Amino acid sequence: MSDTFLHGRTALVTGSTSGIGLAIAQALAAAGARVAINGLGSADQVAAAIAAVDAAGNGGAGSASTKHFSADLRDAEAIDAMMAELSAWSGGGVDVLVNNAGIQHAVPLAQMPVQKWNDIIAINLSSAFHAMRLAMPAMAARGFGRVINIASVHGLVASKDKAPYVASKFGIVGLSKVAALEYAAQGSRESGGITVNCICPGWVETPLIEPQIEARMHGGSRDDGVRNLLAEKQPSLRMTLPAEIAALAVFLCRREAHNITGAALPVDGGWTAQ
Ligand code: NAD
Repeated sequence: MSDTFLHGRTALVTGSTSGIGLAIAQALAAAGARVAINGLGSADQVAAAIAAVDAAGNGGAGSASTKHFSADLRDAEAIDAMMAELSAWSGGGVDVLVNNAGIQHAVPLAQMPVQKWNDIIAINLSSAFHAMRLAMPAMAARGFGRVINIASVHGLVASKDKAPYVASKFGIVGLSKVAALEYAAQGSRESGGITVNCICPGWVETPLIEPQIEARMHGGSRDDGVRNLLAEKQPSLRMTLPAEIAALAVFLCRREAHNITGAALPVDGGWTAQ
């Protein structure tokens, strides 16, 4: 039988209609949490994500199924409304907040559309600030809370052609460290404390990186594109699977992880060891 240590806890995973966020939502549900998802997509995609999280075991002991929030995270007022509704739905605020939503646009700095800069900073960075400022006071009051921000190796090192993405990811690493310090002394070993960490993946097999795979196919197959991408920076030459990122996120939610805070944890096959 699986360990449902998050039974009785509520989690919000942003950007969880796809990729890493969906895998984290499923893993938290399997660990017993009541999970709310958020993200864009067609009605079918949203329904499929809800079904996948329900199937993973959402609600633990038969409570209401997965809730989807359609908030566009570029809109601070929509985030406010989502967090207020979430508080009412969960009966007092979220215990686990995973800021995962993110977008990418890879072109040289001088050709970066200003709107792309604004959108990437809003979704990848500002939305995490808004969700954290609204969720963390209630975590402190309960003595337990987990904020897991999905940054990137690009929160630790740069690559060319990714100015707003790298800026947003370095930003979220800094934001997380500040919040970790501000909340470090809240709660106790017994209650689990409040921790704030970043996970910093290298290449993960999701729709986000498809354009970058295609750009490296050079007339060959998709496998050639993947091989080229990995050879450039990820020494393991293996992609990470979304479920592998999710497994780390679940570990960070455990009570015994109470002293892991303010960390930026690479899952990058050695990328940032170079
Ligand atoms: P993905 O494209 O599969 O999923 C992105 C999610 O964000 C989707 O659910 C999408 O609907 C949501 N989203 C996008 N714009 C939104 C908006 N305006 N409002 C609300 N939701 C929005 O991508 P992924 O690879 O799973 O990426 C998830 C996170 O992981 C991102 O922050 C990304 O930067 C990070 N990351 C990914 C990789 C990788 O190789 N895939 C590597 C490092 C970091």
